[in-house]
Formats: sequence, structure tokens, C-alpha cells
Amino acid sequence: MTALAQRSLSAPGLDVEKVRKDFPILGQEVRGKPLVYLDSAATSQKPRAVIDAVARYYLQDNANVHRGVHLLSERATKEYEGAREKVRRFINAARAEEIIFVRGTTEAINLVAQTYGRTRVRAGDEVLITEMEHHSDIVPWQLLCEEKGAVLRVAPIDDDGQLLVDELQRMLGPRTRLLALAHVSNTLGTINPARRIVEIAHRQGIPVLLDGAQAAPHFPIDVRALDCDFYAFSGHKLFGPTGIGVLYGRSELLEEMPPWQGGGDMISSVTFEKTTWNKLPHKFEAGTPDIAGAIGLGAAIDYVGALGFAAIAAHEHDLLTYATEAVREVPGLRLIGTAKEKASVLSFVLGDVHPHDVGTILDQEGIAIRTGHHCTQPLMRRLGVPATARASFAFYNLRSDVDALVAGLHKVQEIFR
Ligand code: PMP
Repeated sequence: MTALAQRSLSAPGLDVEKVRKDFPILGQEVRGKPLVYLDSAATSQKPRAVIDAVARYYLQDNANVHRGVHLLSERATKEYEGAREKVRRFINAARAEEIIFVRGTTEAINLVAQTYGRTRVRAGDEVLITEMEHHSDIVPWQLLCEEKGAVLRVAPIDDDGQLLVDELQRMLGPRTRLLALAHVSNTLGTINPARRIVEIAHRQGIPVLLDGAQAAPHFPIDVRALDCDFYAFSGHKLFGPTGIGVLYGRSELLEEMPPWQGGGDMISSVTFEKTTWNKLPHKFEAGTPDIAGAIGLGAAIDYVGALGFAAIAAHEHDLLTYATEAVREVPGLRLIGTAKEKASVLSFVLGDVHPHDVGTILDQEGIAIRTGHHCTQPLMRRLGVPATARASFAFYNLRSDVDALVAGLHKVQEIFR
């Protein structure tokens, strides 16, 4: 370990070596080398506290929620609804009923498109997104616009991967029914000025959905300060389980939206002639939910809360700065995404070497990165690259992980020289 790497162990407020002990998976060797996990933007690793919470639920409390009169069902319901309250506090929503448990960001956005969108968007109306969106914030709107004869418009970015906010403002108009954009870009790391953008849209009475999949793991989210109308994120990127995520919606909007999926739990009464809906949030949670997932997500929120976002952000900022400097030494490496405000994502291309080859060679060194289009094909086209290699950091990464990445990239260069 270099002296520089050693110093990172004492990054303010976070004892990373101690934190790493909470993540059993990080201690293993892969391909005969210590695992260097640099793919947390795809999915994060889970602390033992999350794994234990899920196991405890299945070992002690497993029962269906909101239904049984028996004790296990009571306990399961209490834990499930307790997790909802943890999420409410985590994003500072006004009420727990504004928190809808879904499968993840993708399902959250589809829910809004299929309920809010289908009732509000008509032929000739517009939905505005941006050039840096993930496919899950493009395709649901395309499906909606196709069905309704509406128009999907796309706000541009500059070559550094920053949103052109003035252009976006000009594209909002009387036909815009919704603005949907990433809080943080998964490919570029760009942090969009969400508060300012919401304010601009609201001046014209246009609601805003924020895709927070890449934001929630890195800094505190305050939906009331952001003043957004919808906020979506995934548990698995926030050190929680897969299969669980959150849609926050302003209660006035959720109240007037029709349900999406029909089934158990989302009803108040059913006859063959007519069904009435349950109150929020249950109106949007048809069927047996991912109870263990929600409980695991609650445990992840507790875990992150105990570390504190101030310490997490300081350490990740240190890692990103260190990594951005360190990769400059690698001949032929070009960073993709050089916005002023960035989360800890480092996308790059390496001369003519295909990113998949970069990823495969790094894998031989035990280093896990992501390569490809990152579910942002239109963004790749805009930037004129078919794919990138992407290293993404979480609070459990060390400067020595960056050193391993740089050494691996030198190896790639040697092979392709
Ligand atoms: N939006 C962004 C910005 C993402 O990074 C991702 C996941 N890569 C998603 C949406 C989709 O999240 P999920 O697959 O968890 O639904």
C-alpha cells in the first residue's frame, strides 16, 4: 500500500478498515487476487446488519402483512411499516403514506408513467427528459407518449456531461406535463442542480420526477427541500437488498392518481360490479410485498445513518479526487464525464482498447468494474463513444483500490501496446 493510500484510512470521520469488516463479501479473493470491488453504481455490497435483518425476519417473524390477527403477522406488519417510517425520515417526506414500496427505481418510474402519465398526458402534450437519462427514465415515457400521441422531448448536455439548464428551461412549455430527470447520472456521475430545476419547472406549474437511484447512496435526500413531486430510488444501490425500492410522491398527487396494479391489499371493497381503493400507500401496493426486502432496506438506512453522510461524502470526495488524479497518469485514458459537481463515478475510455477488454483484463486482476453502455445508449451516441469502462466507489473503498485499478490499467496498456 502506498503512503498516500495509507493516509486515506484516516479520512475524516470514517474508519474504512473497520467499516469493511461489516461487509463479509469484500474480504474474499477472486481469481487468486484480493477482490477490488469498483462496481457499486451497478449494485452495492450489503453490510452484515442488512443480511442479519433479512435472516432474522425469516427466522423469527415471517408472516403476511396487514392481514392476520396472529402475533407473527402483527410483528411482520410492524416491521414492514417501521421500514416505511425509516424511509420517510431518510428522505424527509412529510408523511409515511407518501412512501410506496416498489421493486426499484425502474418500477417506480413505470408506476408514475402508467398512472399519473396515463391520466394527465394527452395527444400533443409533452414529457421532457434529458440526454443523460438511464433507459428506465426513457422507455416508460416512450411507451406512454406512443400510446397517447404525445411527444418525448430531450434537454441537451454539454461535452463535460453537464445539463444545459437554460436550454432545459426553454424547452418547458404549456404542453409539458412532466419533467423527469436523474438527480445523479449513473454513467457520468454528474450531480444535477435538482433544486434549481424543480423551481424553474414549478414556476410553470410543471411537476418534476427525480430519478435518485445514484443519489440516495451518496448524500442526504430531502424531498421537501428539493420540493420535487416524485422521487425514485432502489434499495440495492443503497446497501440494501435487491427487489425493493421506493417511490415517493406528494400526497395530493398520489391521492388523485388511479391505482396501477390490481389485487389484494390495494382495495377497500370488491364486488363484481365495482371496486373501491384502499387508502395510501396501500392503493399502490397490490399483492404481498417484499416484506423482507423492506425490512432489509430499513436496516441499510440505519447502517448508513450510523456512519453519517458527512463522513461518507468526505471519504468519497477524497476517493474521487484521488482517482481522477491517479488515472491521468495512464497514457491514452480519457475521462467521460467531467462535470464540476460529481458523485464518485469514473467513466473512461482507454485509447482504442474496447472497454469490454479493459473489464476482462481487470477481472483477471480481481478488479470488478462495469463496462458497456450502462443502460444509457442515447447518451453514448451523444458523446460519440460506443461504450465506456466505469469504476464507481462507495464508502467501503480505499485509495489502495484506486492504486490497484491504475496498476491494472497499466497492464491493459502493456498487453495492447
Ligand atoms: N436510474 C439510474 C440513474 C440508475 O443508475 C439505475 C440503475 N442502474 C436505474 C435508474 C434503474 O434502477 P433499478 O435497476 O434498480 O430499477
